[in-house]
Amino acid sequence: MLTAIEKKWKDNRFELIKKYEKLEKRKDFIDDNLIWDLIKKNENPEPKRIREILSKARELKGLTPEEVAVLVNCKEPELVNELCETASYIKQEIYGKRIVLFAPLYVSNTCVNNCIYCGYRRSNPAIKRHTLTMDELRDEVKALTSVGHKRVLAVFGEHPNSDAFYIAQAIETIYETKEGRNEIRRVNINAAPMTVEEYRLIREVGIGTYQVFQETYHHETYKKLHPKDTLKSSFLWRLFALHRAQEAGIDDVALGVLFGLYDWRFEVLGLLFHSLDMEREFGVGPHTISFPRLKPAVNTPFSTSSPYLVSDEDFKKIIAILRCAVPYTGLILTAREAPELRKELIKVGVSQTDAGTRIAVGGYRQMQKEHIPEKQQFLIDDTRTLDEFIYELLKDSLIPSFCTACYRCGRTGEHFMGLPKSAVIKFFCTPNAVLTFKEYLLDYASKRTKELGEKIITQYINDLFQIRPALAMRVEEYLEKMEDGERDFYI
Ligand code: SAM
Ligand code: SF4
Repeated sequence: MLTAIEKKWKDNRFELIKKYEKLEKRKDFIDDNLIWDLIKKNENPEPKRIREILSKARELKGLTPEEVAVLVNCKEPELVNELCETASYIKQEIYGKRIVLFAPLYVSNTCVNNCIYCGYRRSNPAIKRHTLTMDELRDEVKALTSVGHKRVLAVFGEHPNSDAFYIAQAIETIYETKEGRNEIRRVNINAAPMTVEEYRLIREVGIGTYQVFQETYHHETYKKLHPKDTLKSSFLWRLFALHRAQEAGIDDVALGVLFGLYDWRFEVLGLLFHSLDMEREFGVGPHTISFPRLKPAVNTPFSTSSPYLVSDEDFKKIIAILRCAVPYTGLILTAREAPELRKELIKVGVSQTDAGTRIAVGGYRQMQKEHIPEKQQFLIDDTRTLDEFIYELLKDSLIPSFCTACYRCGRTGEHFMGLPKSAVIKFFCTPNAVLTFKEYLLDYASKRTKELGEKIITQYINDLFQIRPALAMRVEEYLEKMEDGERDFYI
């Protein structure tokens, strides 16, 4: 049951959404029949056709919905291997060895919605509800930055306690919380859809990327999983949330699907159509795509019984197909997945991931507790510390990045997207990854991580000298200044 205050707030918002639905001129670009026709038409594709598409993907130009419909039907192990190899090749070409790290920061778990799959749904009595006060939020940020994080993804339920004003205040508080060298330099958020005016408010306080996941693109399933008396019941309000954010001047926006709610092949095409529509209207696609898999949540039977739960093999395929289809869009993997699998998936095409993750509201102050189920939206499978996670990355010769340079010097949205296309990303992002990783090594790393990390940086500089000596000298100069105590260098 909602309290009187919650009900009034919800009713007002419901009215606002209904008005919006009537006035919105944009056309729903998800045509369920068209998507199913594409999938059915391309069932059992010829190996030759799959190989043609993979060789086109290697040109880094992205794929059409028709081509993606062929790849979602790729089943033969040999061809699936080739698909994954192609995705790894694309990842290497565009992103190199770099992988961007962040921490999710759950700020509130109060919510007026009732999404069937989510532990935080309002009808779930098993959850202890809380919205962090600004003092508690500061403590969370201090706990996070004390282990080396520089980027967070702040996550919110949909509730009057965590409305746009609260979100803006939370973002400001996160940026302002500094202790010596410890600070957050980029705050991304995941929060329910808002109006253009509300987006302007959160843009003004310096939001990084704004994420909102459609959850499922299949209309019928969307309707079933989001009860009709809830704010989340409006498919269109959510579908155009990122369009409205762009209208408000938020350049970096991010898509996502909760895999496990409906047929994954349909959802992959839904993501592609969403991405294409944004490109059509704004000239730039999403900054990142997330592909969380449904995980068990306390007292949430659907989270373990959905008929569409995705296997590890199919999950790997999803990532490989997305890597081929939208080569310049960042792909985010989360700590929902287990360590061994993450290692494999990162190779296939992931460019960003969270580490040292705790998802209970207030969970970082109790870092030693891996799970606090009654405060969590779902359970995660990777609870390694940030340092343990980084050490494993280094064993695979990957370079962790805490870089926030693009956002801080205005290279976002269209400007950002212009960069990777000309392959310049390698000469901005990788040096910046190295510079921010060096900060981590100097200020936070364990002995073993520091030893291995320094070796990797030396190797990187030696390689860079061969191809870009001037850049290598600049990076080396910055690294030396860092040894002398200076910080926060970027190209
Ligand atoms: N309440 C906001 C909303 O719905 O837009 C913020 C998002 S919610 C806190 C973050 C995301 O977690 C959701 O968009 C959904 O994709 C995902 N999620 C919900 N239940 C989940 C579950 N059982 N397993 C894995 N992910 C889940
Ligand atoms: Fe609330 Fe978001 Fe969970 Fe739905 S997914 S119940 S909106 S927190």
